[in-house]
Amino acid sequence: QQAVIGVTGLGVMGRNLARNFARHGYAVAVHNRTEAKTKALMEEFGHEGEFLPAGSAEAFVASLARPRKMVIMVQAGPATDAVIEEFAPLLEPGDILVDGGNAHYLDTRRRETALRDRGIHFVGAGISGGEQGALEGPSIMPGGTREAYESLGPILEDIAAKVDGVPCCAYVGPDGAGHFVKMVHNGIEYADMQLIAESYDLLRTGANLTPPQIAEVFRTWNTGRLDSYLIDITAEVLSHTDHATGEPFVDVVVDQAEQKGTGRWTVQTALDLGVPVTGIAEAVFARSISGHADMRAVARGLSGPSGAELGSSFADDVEQALYASKVVAYAQGFNQIQAGSAEYGWDIDLGAMATIWRGGCIIRARFLDRIRAAYETDARAATLLSDANFAAEVGAAQDSWRDVVVAATRAGIPVPGFASALSYYDALRAERLPAALVQGQRDFFGAHTYRRVDREGVYHTQWELPDRPEIRTDA
Ligand code: NDP
Repeated sequence: QQAVIGVTGLGVMGRNLARNFARHGYAVAVHNRTEAKTKALMEEFGHEGEFLPAGSAEAFVASLARPRKMVIMVQAGPATDAVIEEFAPLLEPGDILVDGGNAHYLDTRRRETALRDRGIHFVGAGISGGEQGALEGPSIMPGGTREAYESLGPILEDIAAKVDGVPCCAYVGPDGAGHFVKMVHNGIEYADMQLIAESYDLLRTGANLTPPQIAEVFRTWNTGRLDSYLIDITAEVLSHTDHATGEPFVDVVVDQAEQKGTGRWTVQTALDLGVPVTGIAEAVFARSISGHADMRAVARGLSGPSGAELGSSFADDVEQALYASKVVAYAQGFNQIQAGSAEYGWDIDLGAMATIWRGGCIIRARFLDRIRAAYETDARAATLLSDANFAAEVGAAQDSWRDVVVAATRAGIPVPGFASALSYYDALRAERLPAALVQGQRDFFGAHTYRRVDREGVYHTQWELPDRPEIRTDA
């Protein structure tokens, strides 16, 4: 008896992923550095399907049918390298080694190159959906060779979430493409969560609603265009009462948001690629600000505004602002995928990425169908904001959006996500930007040159001379 696929690293994710394979009828080899976890899996869930437990790397590899397919589910970084080093020498050309952890895409590129030289297909697969997704159907973003996907893909598609019968798993592109897309997914997740948190703050601090009342507002929104997993769980969290104190749960939690780093990677990468992902950046910085207890403690007494009047349709306005800001955040994230794809020659199908995020993952939502449709209309759209449907919706939302940002500003409620999304929208819309002045400043102090609107060429003004003559520098 040989296994169709194997999983090493039976932590929170690996264990459930292995069970998912087994539940779908695949004989699955299981292995963990600490054997107790393998035994625990067999004892608790061994009856769920055909598991082949292995106590050593050698036994694990020997139990896999050729070409071997094995998934590594351990922490990103040195742990992943250690496991690759342990297993790669035991594999043969043609075997497929999948890293399902949250690796940095540059690490995946490095590992793919090294293993390709040894004839091993290295597949960096982004997996989203957390513990439950791994078990019941995650969203899977596999990179690597097409050849590897031909035999591995059908198994992954089988265990992935399905929406309208379509699996939330599709080939992303060569080497690091899968982990790159997973990274941007997480960045978008940060932005989406921040926008929802700002909406909560506006309704709580601005409109004086209670957490259970706000939960009801979110439940209503969840029946419309904002219908999504994140809105759904937000309502759950807000309606939860702390057992110990009887207070709303959200009031007993320390207001300092933590992060594991994928949002930060997204922004760092975006800076390198020159993609303005302001929504994701604001979300990462908002978590960072929340964590600076020291600064917050000394600044708490700073003076604020005298107050603000909120309109009676405030909650509806917030819904409009949230939707419009969300469109901007997703537009930015997809631009980052587009830029990564161009930079590394991945040829990523953006519509397919929207399709596989519809289910299984944290940002799953009906909304993603609209993005898929937008890329069906124009696969190379420069920005999703110019898609006719999004343009109409955001255009219709903008008055409320502006009112909310103004009201928040007047009330002294921080809305970095809403405000920066609106500024981004206005910047893209603008006929002229003050960037022309910035170019003038740069030329003045550093002779950095500029281009003119009326003729070709690169120019410098000799600012130090009395009549400031202009010279062409590229002639
Ligand atoms: P856990 O902490 O639950 O499990 C980690 C596993 O890695 C354990 O099986 C551990 O083995 C093993 N391990 C750690 N270091 C080594 C090493 N040097 N050599 C061999 N094995 C090692 O992690 P998760 O399951 O939560 O996460 C696994 C991966 O999945 C991570 O990359 C994570 O970022 C990613 N991920 C996690 C999600 C989540 O919701 N938790 C969602 C999506 C992706 P041992 O038992 O011997 O310590």
